[in-house]
Amino acid sequence: MGTPFDMTQGKLSIIATPIGNLEDITLRALRTLKECDVIYAEDTRVISKLLARYELKKPLQRLDATTEMKKADEIIARLENGEHVALVSDAGTPAISDPGSRLIAAIRPFVASREEGRQIVIEAIPGPSALTAALSIAGLDATGFTFLGFLPHKKGRQTALKKIAQSEYPVVLYESPHRILKLLKELVQHRVSHITIARELTKIHEEVISGTPAELLVHFSLHPDTVRGEFVVIVAP
Ligand code: SAM
Repeated sequence: MGTPFDMTQGKLSIIATPIGNLEDITLRALRTLKECDVIYAEDTRVISKLLARYELKKPLQRLDATTEMKKADEIIARLENGEHVALVSDAGTPAISDPGSRLIAAIRPFVASREEGRQIVIEAIPGPSALTAALSIAGLDATGFTFLGFLPHKKGRQTALKKIAQSEYPVVLYESPHRILKLLKELVQHRVSHITIARELTKIHEEVISGTPAELLVHFSLHPDTVRGEFVVIVAP
């Protein structure tokens, strides 16, 4: 039975999904995917595989970085109408180097305080993220760390690299296979002394290697077949 304050009309669930291994999904995430009215997904084909694995069927809508703001009004209208909307990205936690934050910022003003009677609720369904998975097995003191995600490709890149090289805390970066060698060369130039690379986490070819950027450059030159997949780079302080 609801309380006098329980005037919830619509709910937006931000759901973390696996970063590779489809078993890495929480019971709550599965229940929410089952119960929601509609799922907004970065790529509907990717979420379809996850839904098929758990025999779930749900109406899907696309919401990627280019359509994120265009879909805000549509999603607000659904929430005001009392719908339960789920948001997922292709992998890991939405809004972490993925679409979601601008949409959530647009919806936040519609989340009234508890005293006013909540009309729209935004809830987190936490789970995997490449960031925390990599840090959890790097063997570094991650009491404090800096997460920068993908470095800018051009403007601001050198300044960012300089700051990374001087950081007192581990710095966590995301990188694509096309740019990983370039990043390693830049870390050599900036005299970074120790890094850890976590590749293909939770997948068959999961690999974690540590050393100087120069050593890891040699490693990837000797094993070019490993310059593929997804990379997290952690620069030790
Ligand atoms: N939202 C995601 C999260 O919570 O981790 C990150 C999305 S971002 C677009 C994708 C990047 O995350 C990849 O380029 C890679 O740097 C990192 N990543 C994602 N999955 C990974 C995995 N299984 N192993 C290593 N890095 C991964």
